[in-house]
Amino acid sequence: MSESSADASDSSNFIRDMIDADLAANRVSTVVTRFPPEPNGYLHIGHAKSICLNFGIARDYGGYCNLRFDDTNPEKEEQEYIDSIRRDVEWLGFEWHGNPFASDYFDQLYGFAIDLIKQGKAYVDSQNAEEIRAGRGTLKTPGEDGPYRNRSVAENLQLFEAMRNDEFDDGEHVLRAKIDMQSPNINMRDPVLYRIRHVTHHNTGDKWCIYPLYDFTHGLSDAIEGVTHSLCTLEFEDHRPLYDWILDNLETPSRPRQTEFARLQLEFSLTSKRKLNALVSEGHVSGWDDPRMLTISGMRRRGFTPESIVNFCDMIGVTKKDSTIEMGVLETALRDDLNARAVRRMAVINPLKVVIENYPADREEVFKGANHPQNPDYGTREIPFAREIYIERDDFMEDAPRKFFRLSPGREVRLRFAYYITCQRVIKNPDGEIESLICTYDPESRGGSSPDGRKVKGTIHWVSARHAVDATVNLYDRLFTVPNPGAAADLHRVLNPDSRVVMDNAKFEAAIELTDNPLAYQFERLGYFVSDYDSTVERPIFNRTMTLRDSWAKIGQAQ
Ligand code: ATP
Ligand code: MG
Repeated sequence: MSESSADASDSSNFIRDMIDADLAANRVSTVVTRFPPEPNGYLHIGHAKSICLNFGIARDYGGYCNLRFDDTNPEKEEQEYIDSIRRDVEWLGFEWHGNPFASDYFDQLYGFAIDLIKQGKAYVDSQNAEEIRAGRGTLKTPGEDGPYRNRSVAENLQLFEAMRNDEFDDGEHVLRAKIDMQSPNINMRDPVLYRIRHVTHHNTGDKWCIYPLYDFTHGLSDAIEGVTHSLCTLEFEDHRPLYDWILDNLETPSRPRQTEFARLQLEFSLTSKRKLNALVSEGHVSGWDDPRMLTISGMRRRGFTPESIVNFCDMIGVTKKDSTIEMGVLETALRDDLNARAVRRMAVINPLKVVIENYPADREEVFKGANHPQNPDYGTREIPFAREIYIERDDFMEDAPRKFFRLSPGREVRLRFAYYITCQRVIKNPDGEIESLICTYDPESRGGSSPDGRKVKGTIHWVSARHAVDATVNLYDRLFTVPNPGAAADLHRVLNPDSRVVMDNAKFEAAIELTDNPLAYQFERLGYFVSDYDSTVERPIFNRTMTLRDSWAKIGQAQ
């Protein structure tokens, strides 16, 4: 599985062109990349784009990619997230070279900070956060040099050491780079490099009470690891001058380059861990792996295959310009992959009983059905048939229009694989609700055609009542009602109330295998399904991964 999924992306893009040029000019010999998540949440579909890019490039150029945990915010990081990130990257089919933490480099980073101080390029600022913010100016106005900017090297060294040695409270001092308070780029106005935080860190425990900031840590971590191409999303473009300044002013083991690409934005979804976290903690979904969430773990539970996600990333490509991808692109990638691999079965999710009155009560027969229409390697299965069957309630209409080609009183329909049946009577309960149908079958039509050549337009699926397995099916739809939920002021106002419908009276054709890596099924006419983690042999629970066609597109056309 991992090989085929990782083989998919070989399309060219501007980053690959740049790497080709670097290799041709001997600026680089081994291509080294990294995927640097902050372990403060689960990975989502946006991260998949970055994973496919970074790991895909390393693989295709015979180099390597590190999975680096960017763990400089001690407050928000948890082991659960670390474990889930590793699992997701592996599941997508990629192998990392190293799996370091940025916090592994805290000693080296501290040394680099001392070096900057000694060069007169960093200083301890004793203003509070508010004063620092005010002194930095705005996008329109320049900043101002603060009162501590010209402290001596000796005083800075002594204060920074005291910061490290736990002599101050949070916020009393920070270490700042000494660059240019008047720079048009606000990131260059003496950015903070270290702050005091009395917090236990998941990796370094209580060893440190000062923590380096992202911008200081990131480029230096790249340099320590020998990363050649540091690929990040466009919001870091304005940080590149700082990335370069830090590396240009320090003796580092290597000199990486940062290149930016557009973030994935996908309609009807959120790609911000903070907002996904809110959905989880406010209980709008069942967890990070709720099948409606476009987290990697949610998608896995929903029945996405790693190949479908890698193919999707390949389809959307890598560009320098932000754009929003339509949900249909992801759905197409998924359907294409599932169509090729899903095992075919029949299932009825909203059953209506049909009694075939001229079929002997004690008789049973078995039809053979292909497990996959195009792939004979999948073999066939036996489908039992008897006098009582279930059909889908939607496949019957009492007062049907002329063009309704399914079942209605007096009309004939083909049962997939089996016989033609004609509806004779409708049985109702005292409330007038339809309870069952009485039908007759044509014994001559075995296998689905009649010797007299009469035409039957509609074919419906069914399940033998006596043999059916009771099951629950979760039908999922988009979690949000608007294409850009991230822009909504109040997330719960744009949640789709019908995003999950539980059908707990479903009937399956046969027992379902339960494995760690559940099989993808296509229930004919209904869509693609996968068994949920909570499924048991006694009570199968299935998630609908996707319908067969894009019902949203059809609705759009009809309007
Ligand atoms: P979030 O706001 O969800 O926390 P982030 O960018 O802060 O997102 P990180 O854990 O820092 O999340 O991301 C790790 C890597 O994944 C980064 O290199 C980041 O640029 C990339 N990444 C995150 N979101 C996307 C996205 N939507 N499209 C492409 N790459 C992304
Ligand atoms: Mg981040």
